[in-house]
Amino acid sequence: MHAMTSMPCPCGSGRAGDACCGPLLAGTATATTAEALMRSRYSAYVRGARDYLLASWHPSTRPPTLELDENVRWLGLSVKRHEEGAPDAAVVEFVARYRIGGGSAVRLHEASRFVREGGRWYYLDGTFP
Ligand SMILES: [Zn+2]
Repeated sequence: MHAMTSMPCPCGSGRAGDACCGPLLAGTATATTAEALMRSRYSAYVRGARDYLLASWHPSTRPPTLELDENVRWLGLSVKRHEEGAPDAAVVEFVARYRIGGGSAVRLHEASRFVREGGRWYYLDGTFP
């Protein structure tokens, strides 16, 4: 796992990693919005940060283990919508693209639900519009 320093953040925010998802993955900051958490989870998939993915998953839906396919190459993230409904619930709709091995690019279009508990945002689940 490479340090996320001055390189552009994998989440595509246009900011440097250490000014974006880096501190979240390092545990020195927490996501202030569901979109920030969603972006950091995408960066965690890019970086293979399995512990971060599990820790940011709501305990009610968190899988016991998480296997990351090393052949997956993440190609980019585009956030389409960020809606905060109830004070502690939000939906973030996004398109993430990836490639497995030498295969063609796959488009993952998901509307993820997030909940906030104890001041922290967690990924709950997702639907595929
Ligand atoms: Zn980022």
